[in-house]
Parts: sequence; structure tokens; C-alpha cells
Amino acid sequence: MTSPAHAPSPSLPRWDGHVHSEYAPHGSPSATEAFLQHAAALGFTRVTLAEHAPLPDGFSDPTPEHDGNLDADRLEPYLRHAAEVRERWRGRLEVLVGLEIDLLPGHEDHARILVERHAAVLDEVVASLHLLPLGRGEWGSTDYSPETFAESARRCGSVAALRRRYLETLAEQIDRDAGAPLPRRLGHPLLIDKFQRLFPSMDPLEDSLAEAVVAAAADRGWSLDLNAAGLRKPHCGTLYLRGPMLTAARRLAVPVVYGSDAHRPDEVGAGWSEAVTEFEKAGYAARRSPGPDRLS
Ligand SMILES: [Zn+2]
Ligand SMILES: [Zn+2]
Repeated sequence: MTSPAHAPSPSLPRWDGHVHSEYAPHGSPSATEAFLQHAAALGFTRVTLAEHAPLPDGFSDPTPEHDGNLDADRLEPYLRHAAEVRERWRGRLEVLVGLEIDLLPGHEDHARILVERHAAVLDEVVASLHLLPLGRGEWGSTDYSPETFAESARRCGSVAALRRRYLETLAEQIDRDAGAPLPRRLGHPLLIDKFQRLFPSMDPLEDSLAEAVVAAAADRGWSLDLNAAGLRKPHCGTLYLRGPMLTAARRLAVPVVYGSDAHRPDEVGAGWSEAVTEFEKAGYAARRSPGPDRLS
């Protein structure tokens, strides 16, 4: 048998694995239908709806607007909606019912119970780290605004220390996954770079930490979100998975799925060509998958 490390390099599947919906709690949500029509028109064959799951009861959300996650009473309506959409599109576009669940150190049971309770309708889970514990029961935001990022960095001691903490927490959280009943994908692994143009950080440890995250994903059978949202962020300009981390994913045969993280229909598929270029740069097959060249 060929070892996974030497398996033929695949091309990037025409799958947008991280799409929000009309249930998105922030912004001005468009009809889910419009997201899917855009995906189908671009030639995608599969889309994962990954709405933000509720935070645990009583959890004190440190983001100023408290509007990042579904309210608990909106979860079941969202899942019913996503399952209906999955049926309606059957045969035209494969729609997977998913949730973007926060990785919250110390609250692992919340995610486990949520997934177990809804496993019958869910197809997969995108697990994302947005909030970091900063000690004494307080949490910091990594991606809400430059101001909240700066405050989290101050609490950690430096920008480099915050980035280290972020990557270490990712690896620990994946490691703590005790065998989920559903496929797991790590959302936007390098979200911590969202404000990198404002807060440059040189840290020689980062490559090895990023590789430790990928190694944990390989051990636990997770895939990685080749998330293109960073390309649209004025202070970022890069994919949230790239360089040595993506090369490590290829070496360890960790599956990689493109994700637009669209919060608007016209963001579905955004950054696809940059994602393909980065994917190939990491050593995956240089031959593009046949199909519509509408994906750009
Ligand atoms: Zn996210
Ligand atoms: Zn998202």
C-alpha cells in the first residue's frame, strides 16, 4: 500500500467548505439561496453551510457587539433551514449542513454536546478559534478589531506571544478532540494574521508551531480550511492557510478544503484562484482540475 505521504497529490476540490447563510447573526444577511446560486454559477459542485454555533450558556462574549454567534433559540431553525436547502438543491449542487463551532478551551463539552445532539442533521463541523483565554476567567478577541487584537497582545506580553498562544491553543484543542461523530475541519488556521500589516511579528518559532497544528490535525483526522477571507481584509492580504503550514499539510496528507467564509453571496468563491496557486506552490499537483474556468 502506498503511504499517505506518497499518495498522488490531488487537485483542490471544487468545494466551498465555509459559507455563511441568511442566519448569519452579524451584517445584513442575504438569502441562503443567493449564496448557492452564486456557487453553482461559478462551477462549484459542493458547498458547506457553516453558520456560527451559539456560545455556551452564560459565556461572556468579549466582543463589543456580542453578535458573532447564533442565539441559542436560532440554532434549530437554522439547522432545519439548512437541511431543507440541502434537499432542494439535491442533484444540482451538493449542500452539506454544517456549523462553525468555536474552539473554547475549558468548554470542550459544549461543542461535544452540541454536535452529539444534532449529529442526525449535521454533515460536518468547522471548528474555529476566535477567542483566547487570557487568564483569570477573561477572554480576548483575536479577530474582531485592531483594538481588541492589540489588547489581547498586550495581555499576552507581545504580538509574537499572542501568535504563539494562538497556534499552541489550536494544537491543544485539536488534540483534545476525543473522536467526534462527525468530520471536523479546522477553520481559518492563520486567522491570527488578520491584522498582520498593522502588527508585524517576526517569530522563528512560528513555522514549527504551525507544523504542530497540522500534525495534531493528522493525528485526529481533521481537515484544514484553506480560507480565503484574509485576502479581503485590508490589514491582512493573505490566505489564512499558506506557506510552511500548507506544505506540512501536503507532507502529512491532511485534507485541505477551500473556504471563502462568505458572509455575502458575491463572496462565495472569492480568492479561489489565489487558493489554487498557493495549493500548487505547496507541492500539490500543478495540473488544474478540469472544469469551468469561471472560477477565478
Ligand atoms: Zn470564523
Ligand atoms: Zn466563518
